[in-house]
Amino acid sequence: MLSSITLFGCDEQTDKNPFLTQEYGTPFEVPPFDKIKFSHYVPAFEKGIEQDRQLVDLIVSNSAEPTFENTIVPFDNAGKLLNKVSNVFFNLRESDNSDSLSIIANTVLPMISNHRDNMLMNSALFERIKAVYDSRLTAGLDSAQIRVVELYYRDFVRNGALLAADKQAELRKINERLSLLSLKFGENLLNETNSSFKLVVDTAAELEGFPENVVTAAAERAKAEGQDGKWIFTLQKASMIPFLQYSANPELREKLYAAYCNRGNNDNEFDNKQVIIETTNLCAQKAKLLGFNTYADYVIAVNMAGTSTAVNDFLAQIWPAAIAKAKSELMSMQSYAALCKSYRKIKAADWWYWAEKLRKARYDVDEKTLSEYFKLENVRDGMFGVANKLYGITFRRLTDVPLYNPNAEAYEVCEADGSHLAVIYFDWFPRASKSAGAWCTTFRPAIDKANGERTSAIVSVVCNLTEPAGDKPALLSLDNVQTMFHEFGHALHFMFAKGQYSRTCGNVPNDYVEMPSQIMEHWATEPQVLREFARHYLTNEVIPDALIEKMKASSTFNQGFATTEYLAASILDMNWYEIGADSTVTDVNAFETNAMGRIGLISEIVPRYRSTYFAHIFDGGYAAGYYVYMWSEVLDADAFEAFTASGDIFNPELAAKFRKHCLETAGTCSEMDEYVKFRGQKPSIEPLLRNRGLLK
Ligand SMILES: [Zn+2]
Repeated sequence: MLSSITLFGCDEQTDKNPFLTQEYGTPFEVPPFDKIKFSHYVPAFEKGIEQDRQLVDLIVSNSAEPTFENTIVPFDNAGKLLNKVSNVFFNLRESDNSDSLSIIANTVLPMISNHRDNMLMNSALFERIKAVYDSRLTAGLDSAQIRVVELYYRDFVRNGALLAADKQAELRKINERLSLLSLKFGENLLNETNSSFKLVVDTAAELEGFPENVVTAAAERAKAEGQDGKWIFTLQKASMIPFLQYSANPELREKLYAAYCNRGNNDNEFDNKQVIIETTNLCAQKAKLLGFNTYADYVIAVNMAGTSTAVNDFLAQIWPAAIAKAKSELMSMQSYAALCKSYRKIKAADWWYWAEKLRKARYDVDEKTLSEYFKLENVRDGMFGVANKLYGITFRRLTDVPLYNPNAEAYEVCEADGSHLAVIYFDWFPRASKSAGAWCTTFRPAIDKANGERTSAIVSVVCNLTEPAGDKPALLSLDNVQTMFHEFGHALHFMFAKGQYSRTCGNVPNDYVEMPSQIMEHWATEPQVLREFARHYLTNEVIPDALIEKMKASSTFNQGFATTEYLAASILDMNWYEIGADSTVTDVNAFETNAMGRIGLISEIVPRYRSTYFAHIFDGGYAAGYYVYMWSEVLDADAFEAFTASGDIFNPELAAKFRKHCLETAGTCSEMDEYVKFRGQKPSIEPLLRNRGLLK
């Protein structure tokens, strides 16, 4: 354990704090990870907050009439140091965490949220912003500037700037309570997931037919828990799903799945039901204070969808096709099960098992064979190749930049003319210090200056892909490959983003954000692209056409199920955040049952997240926002269809338009207007339905 002195103290004489220097002095100004010490963070956060405070004081004390130049521009420039340290700190918290970083987080998180409240509830500052806002249309501002003013004004209003002092105090109280509740929800869920239940398997016979890596992981887990010679499966999805897929024992499947589905719903100290009731009630109160009918309306007002009605209509448009397909999938599985000796009526916990059996029988895609064509280095180069064909950009491995972890790798990205575009880090494999999942962030976002100079992006892609094992290289699953392309799509968005103002540059609504990433997944599985990168790791033989065809044929398999469980969760989310401020829910389970009953969800499918473990919406910032993935998918499916319909998936004219309107300027203007400039028309929902096999 480190003492608080080493974590928080900083001897300026002997210990130069890199965050506090004007420039890092590294190649491309990447963070000097090798020189950053734990003791540098807190002083940098403190100084950053102090700098912002002084800057706001300067804006507010200016005796001149408020203008865009003397108010909005300096405010948009605030946060320089705070962002500099935050970008490093919060990235490392996820990708290379340690006890020391956790201790520091406990100190800096309340500092930052308090600072944010102080800025957004500063009435003198708001008065000046409001003055610029009120005269925005007659002050000779260009459209990009008007948008920035409008967004800042909206930020303040949404944080209660127009409320009377007593209402503001009420709002602050609600916000504080909500942040505690979300923390509580997360802690309860973590406890329920990690400690409440473990499935211990005693005999190897029970694991017959399981993939080798799943068995090894379960054995290692048992060993770590002092049960050497046994196998342990947990309520983590990565552990549970393979068990549900491969275990021939319906009782054990049901036991594991029931424990998973009841997390946070066990009437114990970690129960989340009261947390949900209080959270949704407070959100409804907050929405009412701010002049919205429901919290969903409050959230969605700043998204592309605009209103909760638009979201509900959208979800309702896909639901009938999804549930119909799911029902027919269930019938197919039931008929197939009838042919097998182990027949019984298929229940929710059986879906993965029978789907896997039927998938094998119908398409015979062997994951292991497929993975031999997906050596990580080949996939990575294939991904670079796609970006090169579309946008002309090139990638050069950097060996002279500091890395935050020896397993990360860095590249310089250049434009077709050789000029510098960005630096990108990749960090592929799991380790104890890394969070689960995959994500893309920046160590420094791109921004253009008024004088034409540009600060380029420093991007970071972090994954948890299948590691190299023994003398074999990292051989990836198809899911891994799609994840790489997905995160790389976010990275391209960060690299290409253009704009002079940090409020808008690359800053898109939540229901647009997955579009640049999801569209890249389409290229990943195009036969033309696969033939480029999918080569056997031993023989370099190109992936056989027969295998590509099997992959294609199975791509819509079980999509009725996947779409239904996703939509059910999205609809549940909307239901929770459409509760009015005057009504109270008393029974969480009954509320959920009613909501699912209204849409006719079948008992063989459980929403992807039930309420008591729906972390996205109760502890993840996705309240009334779980729908965004599919909303973005309408855009990416429709956008990709423009390429396929042109007969060239690398159509240079379309690629240039896509880059300009959908990646560079989205954020600085209306996303839908920009989309129409790329596509020539508004997006249609049909490509999404077709891709998921939901069209009749
Ligand atoms: Zn994403």
